Amino acid sequence: MLTTRKEQIQENAEVAEHIRGSYWITTFGCQMNKADSERMAGILESMGYIEASAELHADLVLFNTCTIRDNAEQKVYSYLGRQALRKHSHPHLKLIVAGCVAQQEGESLLRRVPELDLVMGPQHANRLETLLQQVDNGQQVIATEENHILEDLTTARRDSKICAWVNVIYGCNERCTYCVVPSVRGKEQSRSKEAIREEIEQLVSSGYKEITLLGQNIDAYGRDLPGRTIKGSFKNSLTDLLYFIHDVEGLERIRFATSHPRYFTERLIQACSDLSKVCEHFHIPVQSGNNEILNSMARGYSVERYKRIIDKIKKLMPESAITSDVIVGFPGETDSQFKNTLSLVKEIGFDQVNTAAYSPRPNTPAAKWTNQVSEDVKVKRLKLINQTVEETAKERNARYLNQALEILAEGINPKDSKQLMGRTRTNRLTFFDAIGPNNQIYKSGDLVKVQINKIRSFSLTGTPII
Ligand code: SF4
Repeated sequence: MLTTRKEQIQENAEVAEHIRGSYWITTFGCQMNKADSERMAGILESMGYIEASAELHADLVLFNTCTIRDNAEQKVYSYLGRQALRKHSHPHLKLIVAGCVAQQEGESLLRRVPELDLVMGPQHANRLETLLQQVDNGQQVIATEENHILEDLTTARRDSKICAWVNVIYGCNERCTYCVVPSVRGKEQSRSKEAIREEIEQLVSSGYKEITLLGQNIDAYGRDLPGRTIKGSFKNSLTDLLYFIHDVEGLERIRFATSHPRYFTERLIQACSDLSKVCEHFHIPVQSGNNEILNSMARGYSVERYKRIIDKIKKLMPESAITSDVIVGFPGETDSQFKNTLSLVKEIGFDQVNTAAYSPRPNTPAAKWTNQVSEDVKVKRLKLINQTVEETAKERNARYLNQALEILAEGINPKDSKQLMGRTRTNRLTFFDAIGPNNQIYKSGDLVKVQINKIRSFSLTGTPII
C-alpha cells in the first residue's frame, strides 16, 4: 500500500520511464483483421506503449487495412493523408500500414506516402516488435514476403472481456475469381489443435465465456497439417477440432466462421448438433443463386448442393440461424440470374445476409473480364437485394417473440445504461433489463434467460425471467 505523496510520484516516474509512447490502431475489414489488430495491440503494450486517447495524440499510428472492395481500399488513403501531414510537425511519429492493402501495394505505398515507416502484410502481424526495432534503427521497412506465421504467445489486447476471436487457420488456397484474399493473405496455415486448446484454456481462465474460431475458409482447417488418411480425408479437420476443445471447463459457447459450402460436411453438421456448446448459428456464404454465376466465380458448388446443406442443418437443428454473403452485379450477371439470387434468399429465409456489389480487385481473374456489369445496374440490384434481406430477416426474427432465450451478457447497452446487451445462441443481438425479477443485478459474462417482447429486423429486446 503506497503511503506518501513522494512514493506516489516515484511510482508514476518509474511507470513513465518504461512507457515508450502512445499508440493508436484503426482497423478496417473482417474479423481476421480485428483479431490481428488485437494481437498487434498486445505486442505494442508488451513493448511499453500505452493506448492513446485519440488518433491525433498518438506517437505511433497503425492502420490495419482491407482491400476486399475498392471503397475499403480508398478509405485508408484519406486517413493516411492527414497523418502524413502531421508527421511533418511530429517527426518522431511512427506511421504504419498493415493488413491487406499493405500486402497488395507493398513498395508502391512508400512511393505514394514517403512518410511511412513500416508497410507490413497480414502474415507479419506477429513480427511487429522485430519490425519496429528495425524502424527504431532508422530504417523504412517493407515486410510483405511469404512468411510462416509463428505461434504468438503475446497476450492479445482484446476489445471484449467475454467473447474472443481465436485464429485457427490463416490464408486461403481457394481461387474464387473475384477474391483478393489468397493474393494478400497467402496460403493456408493451420495452427495445431494443441496450441488452439492452450489459447482457449488461457482465455477461459481469465474469464472468457465464448470463443469464435476464425478462418477465411474455416472448413479447410487442418488440410495442411500432418495426418492425412489414405482416403484423402484427414483427422485434423474442423470437426475434430470441435471435439478436441469442447470439454474445456468453463467455456460456455463455441462459434466458428467463415464456412465454405464446398467443404461443409455432414460429419460437421452432426458434430454441431451433438456438441452442446457449439451455437446454432452458421455463416455460409452462397454468393449467388445461379449456377452459371457460381461456376464463373469458381466457387466449386451448385445451388442444389447449398440447399441440401441448409436442409440437413435445419433437420438436425431447426432453431438454427443461417447467415450468408451475396455478391450482385458479378461480370456477366443477367437480370434473370440476379432474380435467381433474390428467390434463393427468400426461399432459404436467411437471418441475415452481407450484401455487396461486385468490385473488380487487383490480381483477380474476374477484374479482367470484358462483360462487366454497369455501376447503375449494380446499385439497382443492391437496393433490391437489401430490401429482400431486410424483409426476410424481419420474418425470421418474428419467431423469437414471446420465446424465453438464453443470452450471454456482453456489456451495458450504450444507448440505455439500465440495460445490458448480449447475443442469443443464434447470434441475434438482444437488449434486456440489467435488474432481474428478484432484483438480482446481472453483469457481463452472465447467461441470462430472457423473455423476448420486442423484435426488430436485426435485434431483439426482452425481460429477464427466472
Ligand atoms: S474461399 Fe474464396 S472468397 Fe473466401 S477467402 Fe478464399 S478465395 Fe476468397
